[in-house]
Amino acid sequence: QQEYIRKPEWLKTKINTNKSYTGLKKLMRDKKLNTVCEEARCPNIHECWSERKTATFMILGDTCTRGCRFCAVKTGLPNELDWGEPERVAESVEIMGLKHVVVTAVARDDLNDGGAAVFAETVRAIRKLNPGCTVEILPSDMKGDYESLSTLMNSKPDIFNHNIETVRRLTKRVRARAMYDRSLQLLQRVKLIAPTTPTKSSIMVGLGETKEEIIQAMDDLLAHGVDIMTIGQYLQPTKKHLLVERYYHPDEFQELKEIALEKGFRHCESGPMVRSSYHADEQVSQASAQ
Ligand code: SF4
Ligand code: SF4
Repeated sequence: QQEYIRKPEWLKTKINTNKSYTGLKKLMRDKKLNTVCEEARCPNIHECWSERKTATFMILGDTCTRGCRFCAVKTGLPNELDWGEPERVAESVEIMGLKHVVVTAVARDDLNDGGAAVFAETVRAIRKLNPGCTVEILPSDMKGDYESLSTLMNSKPDIFNHNIETVRRLTKRVRARAMYDRSLQLLQRVKLIAPTTPTKSSIMVGLGETKEEIIQAMDDLLAHGVDIMTIGQYLQPTKKHLLVERYYHPDEFQELKEIALEKGFRHCESGPMVRSSYHADEQVSQASAQ
């Protein structure tokens, strides 16, 4: 029987409930859009929405065909495809005045293309209405289907992000319907299609991995051409989800960042509150400047 571990001090930050984005939350309801920022109750929402002008939209509905054991998105029968969604996302990006937008989606294993066509249309619609805004995409593995990947890459995202989420040994436990190697191959394939597009991947720590396994994951990502890595603390979203096995100290995150940069990643964000899309705006300029 695993035991519940108390949250350390550095994670007990107060959520900033500054009023400035309550209007934006209403905008999401009005446009029938979902953001990871809200769904995951991300602690960085104030900084991202108000100061950095970044947000992460979750498209293709609010119901996922998978049920990863760390993720709070609901699982079940997916929503009907909504071809009006790309335009509504683009309009919201304009109203929010975003400078960088991350577009992610639930896994749509029910669709032949995994939702790639609507996803690509969303990127195009954002660009058309918001020429100054950079677009990062964070798709599922689309069951490793390269045609779907090509459809997606034709929309020319500024960053391609796909998360391996955890080390090889724990993949089955943490995200049962995904495969570690399939995710790595997807990332590698992006480099073949668009060699200059920066690629990025994330892991969560605190799920029982060893330091050696984290370092191996870094090597695996680098061997598949990945440019940017983010490392954050896993937090249990509800009691039904996997327990946190360990809270890493901020100094340990710093050490992992130094190892990652030494090994050759162009950019690494590593810290207790780091999420896949955290400080993503900085990564575009840094990755493309090199
Ligand atoms: Fe949204 Fe990502 Fe920022 Fe969190 S870190 S508020 S999910 S953009
Ligand atoms: Fe959550 Fe993505 Fe897993 Fe679906 S595929 S359960 S959205 S992490």
